[in-house]
Amino acid sequence: MYFRLFIWILVSGLGLTGCSQHNPLYEEGFYVFGTLVNVSIWGVPTEQARQAVDTIAHDFQSMHHRWHAWEPGPLVDLNKAIAAGQVWTVEDNSLIFLIKQSQLFSQQSEGLFNPAVGQLIRLWGFHRNEFPDDTPLPQSTTLATLIEQAPSMADIQIKGNQVSSRNRAVQLDFGAIAKGYAIDLGIKKLQQQGIHNAIINAGGNLKVMGKKGTEPWRIGIRDPSGQGVLAAVLVSGEESVVTSGNYERFREHKGVHYSHIIDPRNGMPVRGITSVTVIDPSGTRADAAATALTVAGLSDWHRIAQQMGIKYVMVVDESATVYMNPAMAKRIQFQTQQPPKVVLTDPL
Ligand code: ADP
Ligand code: MG
Repeated sequence: MYFRLFIWILVSGLGLTGCSQHNPLYEEGFYVFGTLVNVSIWGVPTEQARQAVDTIAHDFQSMHHRWHAWEPGPLVDLNKAIAAGQVWTVEDNSLIFLIKQSQLFSQQSEGLFNPAVGQLIRLWGFHRNEFPDDTPLPQSTTLATLIEQAPSMADIQIKGNQVSSRNRAVQLDFGAIAKGYAIDLGIKKLQQQGIHNAIINAGGNLKVMGKKGTEPWRIGIRDPSGQGVLAAVLVSGEESVVTSGNYERFREHKGVHYSHIIDPRNGMPVRGITSVTVIDPSGTRADAAATALTVAGLSDWHRIAQQMGIKYVMVVDESATVYMNPAMAKRIQFQTQQPPKVVLTDPL
C-alpha cells in the first residue's frame, strides 16, 4: 500500500480568490520526490509567480535525480564506490552539503537519524516507488549482520570533494532530509526572483516566508488518525513546519503495518508514534529532526530535540495522545471537534 501525506494549507478566503485577475494568491502544484509539491505565492503578478514555480519545479526535478537512492545518478554512483571501498570524487556540492549536515544531525541525535542505513531501508522494501504486499520481510539473521556492521555517518570522510567510507556497509539514503533541504533551496530561489511571501509544501515538509498580505500564513497539520486537520498553526517570516508520519508511506504484510522509518539500533520499523511535527527556521534540520524524534519515541524525543536545538515539537502517539513542549502548545490551535488528550512536557 502506498499512502501520501498532504498538509493542507488553510488560507481563509481561498475559494473566493481562484479566478480573479487581481488575485494576490497564486497556487500551483507539481509532482516530484514521490509526492505532490504545492507552491503558494502572494502579491506578485501572475506571470512572475508562474515563472518562479516553473524554476522551482525544474530545480526539484534535478535534486530528485541527483539525490535519488536507487535510481541511476550521482548518489547511486557514490554508494557503489563506498561498497567497493573506493575514494570517490563528488562533483555535486549539494551532496557534500547533505553528507555534512547528516553527520551533524546524526551525531546530535545519537544515531537515531542515520542516512547511512540505506541497506536496511532497501531490505524492508522501501527502495521502490510502490510497495507490493507480497515482498518477503527481511530475515532476522540478515538484519543482525547489518546491525553488527553498524554503518554510520561518522564512517564517512570528506576531503574537498573526495568522499570515502571506512565502513563498506554504509549506503547513503537521504529520504529523511532531502525534502527539507529542497524547501530551503526552493525558498532561496524564490527570494532571488523577487518573491518574499510564499509557501513551498513538499508532501508535509513545508517552508514559509513572509506573510499572506497583512496576516501570517495559516498552516494545517493533518490528523494522523484520519483525513481531517488536527491543528492549525500561524507562521510568518522564515520558518519550516515538517511532519513525519507513519501513516504516510508504509507497507503492510499479512495485516501488519510497517513504517518506512527504521530504528537503526535494531533494524526494525518504528512503532508507537504516529506523527511528529517540528517547527524550525531550517527545513533541513526540521526534516532530520522529525525523523529522529519519531525513532526516539515517547521516552527520548525531548532529550534528542534539545540536543538538536529544536524549539517546537508536537508528537502524536498510537492512542492519539498529543505531547508538546509549552512553546509549541502556545502556537497550536486544535481543529478537531473533540480536543485530543494533551500532555505538556518541560520547556525545550
Ligand atoms: P517523509 O519522507 O515521509 O517526509 P521522513 O522524513 O521521516 O519521511 O523520511 C523517511 C525516509 O527516510 C524513509 O523512507 C527512508 O528512506 C529514510 N529513513 C528511514 N529511517 C531512517 C532513519 N532512522 N534515519 C535516516 N533516514 C531514515
Ligand atoms: Mg525527515
